[in-house]
Amino acid sequence: MGFLSTVPATSNSNVDIHNLTTTVYGSAIAGRGAPRFELAEEEMEPRVAARFIHDHLLLDGTPSLNLASFVTTYMEEEAEKLMMEHLSVNFIDVEEYPASAEIETRCVNMIARLFNAPVDTPESEALGVSTIGSSEAIILAVLAAKRLWKNKRKAAGKSTENPNIVMNAAVQVCWEKAARYLEVEERYWYCKPGQYVLDPKEAVELVDENTILVCAILGTTYTGQYEDVAGLNDELEKKNKELGIDVHIHVDAASGGFVAPFVVPDLIWDFRVPLVCSINVSGHKYGLAYAGVGWAIWRDKSFLPDDILFTVNYLGSPQVSFTLNFSKSAVQVIGQYYQLLRLGKTGYRAIMTNLTATADFLAQEILDIDQGERFELLSEINGAGLPLVAWKLKNLGKYDEFAIARTLRSRGWIVPAYTMAPHTETMKLLRVVVREDFSRDRCQIFLRDLKDALKQLDVTPEVVLDHQAEQHLQQAAAKHKRSHKHRRHDNHSLQGTAGKTHAVC
Ligand SMILES: *Cc1c(COP(=O)(O)O)cnc(C)c1O
Repeated sequence: MGFLSTVPATSNSNVDIHNLTTTVYGSAIAGRGAPRFELAEEEMEPRVAARFIHDHLLLDGTPSLNLASFVTTYMEEEAEKLMMEHLSVNFIDVEEYPASAEIETRCVNMIARLFNAPVDTPESEALGVSTIGSSEAIILAVLAAKRLWKNKRKAAGKSTENPNIVMNAAVQVCWEKAARYLEVEERYWYCKPGQYVLDPKEAVELVDENTILVCAILGTTYTGQYEDVAGLNDELEKKNKELGIDVHIHVDAASGGFVAPFVVPDLIWDFRVPLVCSINVSGHKYGLAYAGVGWAIWRDKSFLPDDILFTVNYLGSPQVSFTLNFSKSAVQVIGQYYQLLRLGKTGYRAIMTNLTATADFLAQEILDIDQGERFELLSEINGAGLPLVAWKLKNLGKYDEFAIARTLRSRGWIVPAYTMAPHTETMKLLRVVVREDFSRDRCQIFLRDLKDALKQLDVTPEVVLDHQAEQHLQQAAAKHKRSHKHRRHDNHSLQGTAGKTHAVC
């Protein structure tokens, strides 16, 4: 037995066992946890760092099962490869990367023509820019409109105080941001029970000589309905004549810009409408590119005042720059260009038609539950709105839409329940956005889980349901308190004043 050491292994204390281990979870860091507040002194193995971040991110939802969002969760491998190859290209450096800049121009030309922008010849360059998303595009469009209005007012010797924008209170939060950042009064038309899109006549009543833009939404985030751009145009033409003013329309086509041209080509909403001066669209929604790309398109040069444009040198020739950012990756624009080339009109039409059919199928199946006794549909069918399904309970029983959302969440599905826009906020609804990867097959699995969730809720005693709802509220409040990002410091916005809950988009 003499070969057994009498010295305990642990007494060899000057050797750090972590120097000997080559495993991720045997490492010192696995025993301690990753730093949260201060940059660590020591390095970490690449494998270990990557594994920790990977493990942490597992707590996020699965993007494909997130039926709340409009943002692309699927692109082909070829597109992903192309994007990976160009991760280090700085988009703003047009001198170094002229090909990326030309790709942007090509995208602008194609999208502007898709929106029927007037162009002199088939080879004329259209006017627009790529952005990080519709939010940046909308801020730029409001900035241009405000400056244009100001310049005209100044020239006429009139006051340039108190500019305003007229819009539906159901606008996406970026409109509130644009108005507040750029100091423009928000003039809201409010939804009423049964009407969630702008009434053209009532909206135009809010227009006066200080109105810099009227906003029309092509696909509201609440119900996906398209606002009546042509009707708005007619009312606004009358008003312009009556007051001797020149107010134009901006169409927020964040979601609908890549849907309507393919599903309802006869719907007149774009530059075919005379007073439409600018349009935004999110490339990362139905443009089918990954997050980080949007587009702002203007009818013509007269809507982009020179004094807000900057000129950068592009291979010796001047290139106009109109953006809120400077350096950014070129990969999102490259991803968008891939989709435009790859799909063409036929490809987009095929995908958007399928999505619309899937949304119709889902809507019908939901309506059919309990022979139509249970749910009421709030979104459109047959392509008259975005391919999404928004619905509500017909009668409030012992549980509400939020309880259904919670139960679906426990199956992995992220389906938002939210309250309607200001003045109709007592109404609750559920919404499923039909994205490219929400195939008919996935839709059928979702329906099965929805029906199971309802069955489960039906047999759950009321006290338990009430307790769960209460617990959920408490957890939400605690989360709110913990999060520095969501400090309630706004007494001005629709969220602060009217308790508006912004639909996820
Ligand atoms: C998504 C959305 C926006 C904001 O777009 P981002 O691309 O996310 O910045 C604005 N308006 C509407 C109607 C939207 O759906």
